[in-house]
Amino acid sequence: MISLEEAREKILASLPRLGSERVPLSDALGSFASEDVRSDRNVPSFDNSAFDGYAVHASDVATATAAHPATLRVIGIATAGSAPGPAFPKGSCLRIFTGAPMPAGADAVVMQEDTRTAGPDSVDILDTVRPREGVRFAGEDVRPGDVLVRTGHRLNPPALALVASTGIGSIPIHRRPSIFLLSTGSELIEPGLDPQPGQIHDSNGVLLDALARNEGAKVIGCERVTDEVHATVAALQRASAHADVVITSGGVSVGDADLLRPAITALGGSVDLWRIAIKPGKPFAYGRLGAATWFGLPGNPVAAFVTWHVLVRPALRHLAGSRVSPFRSVHAHLGQTISNGGDRRHFIRVIVDEEGLVRPAGTQASHVHSSMAAANALLDVPPSTTWETGRAVRVDLLD
Ligand code: AMP
Ligand code: MG
Repeated sequence: MISLEEAREKILASLPRLGSERVPLSDALGSFASEDVRSDRNVPSFDNSAFDGYAVHASDVATATAAHPATLRVIGIATAGSAPGPAFPKGSCLRIFTGAPMPAGADAVVMQEDTRTAGPDSVDILDTVRPREGVRFAGEDVRPGDVLVRTGHRLNPPALALVASTGIGSIPIHRRPSIFLLSTGSELIEPGLDPQPGQIHDSNGVLLDALARNEGAKVIGCERVTDEVHATVAALQRASAHADVVITSGGVSVGDADLLRPAITALGGSVDLWRIAIKPGKPFAYGRLGAATWFGLPGNPVAAFVTWHVLVRPALRHLAGSRVSPFRSVHAHLGQTISNGGDRRHFIRVIVDEEGLVRPAGTQASHVHSSMAAANALLDVPPSTTWETGRAVRVDLLD
């Protein structure tokens, strides 16, 4: 058995790099930029009004109060989308709306709430305004040459909006890995069907499909395979012919029906890792099959989930070009005593509450879905360890 860190390093070092492509922003969500993306312009690209009101010369309203307003002539109107209005003389102003370009000469905008209509084409200004107030200046947000997204960073909704604000419509990304999922086990049936005695519903297929899609990976197949050599070999062959990554669940421990490793070897693939010193997830296997990368997850749903989180997800992110940590670990404190009496580190399903207190999410056996569904974080507890209430810990947040 090897350590988790050793396994992760070996996996990351052995992964191929997928190519890159340019895609429209609408297809880039969740991908990782394959180059630095820079702006060629200012954002905002022109000075504009921060709110609805009146564009003025600030010096015209330097003494304005509600009791002694400054009365200005309104010489026109500027709406968002209109070309900049003409320069206007002192003593006058321009009705202006949020986002409309500032007219030449005006140096401030008085908000509508600080004004009162004085006549058909005049307005009372009820308060002073400092020069530059109420104006959003060109380049305040982004300047030409600014890096909008760095290589290897994830394109989340705000990052895409930032890129879009500079007028860029498409973006270079690392190609996302395609994934073929195989749930192995003769006992498995599709959720929605009635089980015969001894049959169970394939929850790993649903779990892994959802986790993969959450990662922005393309799931190109999701099948169940019976515990028979020919069926296992045929499914692996089909999956590896089409996908960058084949993820199986079940069939990697030491029982008679554990056919995955022999099937990989029979197909000319390699089993490069097997068995990791973690709980749950010990039987995890990793290797290559043709051009595809193979992850052999244990069948117990929580073991599949934990090995996905600590091994598969970091690998998928690496394949997808990520250069940032896949983990979101935060400081918290134990809300109750937690122990691990075993000889492997235990990834415990926990709930971190709003006060930052950590409690187990329920029974920790590796077949228990309910505590997996209740958990919002994993706590990594070393072997033969008891941690008392109040202890400062780091937990790894789940999505
Ligand atoms: P295995 O690793 O194949 O020995 O499976 C370990 C345990 O996980 C057994 O109780 C299986 O029935 C269960 N199991 C395996 N695959 C799945 C699956 N796709 N969905 C739900 N449970 C599963
Ligand atoms: Mg099985």
